[in-house]
Amino acid sequence: MINRPVLVLNQNYEPLNVCHVRRAIVLIYQSKAEMLENGAGFVHTADRMFPIPSVIRLPHLVKRPFHVNRKLTRMEVFARDGHMCQYCGRQTRQLTLDHVIPRFRGGQHTWENVVSACVTCNRKKAGRTPEEAGMKLRHTPAPPHTDRYSYIPSQYLQSRREWERYFPH
Ligand SMILES: [Zn+2]
Repeated sequence: MINRPVLVLNQNYEPLNVCHVRRAIVLIYQSKAEMLENGAGFVHTADRMFPIPSVIRLPHLVKRPFHVNRKLTRMEVFARDGHMCQYCGRQTRQLTLDHVIPRFRGGQHTWENVVSACVTCNRKKAGRTPEEAGMKLRHTPAPPHTDRYSYIPSQYLQSRREWERYFPH
């Protein structure tokens, strides 16, 4: 119960992130947040009873985390590409990072020049450009689309009906 997810809203009621009940109760107790929705029931301690929050709101406006640029890491690139080899289209866990224009030929380590490639395609392409290797990219690589609420795990949105009203459709 203490580890149930709690939706944290910014001062302007926009979803900010998700924390656990334990953290939410501490924030409320310290007057650092107010409870908007009671999840279900109460937590009992030795001498007190706390309502279990489901949605809390911060009293101050917090700068949104999505202003931060996504870091270019292997995992972020694989996630952007849907864990799919961008040459053959195979979905695999054994992905490698491919520089479309090879680095030793001046290719940059940027979102526009890195793609997910399976081991087979990476070996086949080797130090060549896609044109030289006769391999076609499925998508033109670009920085990942930053969904405003992508940091709120979607399984929560399906299970917590009382959160729905805080997400614009
Ligand atoms: Zn492949």
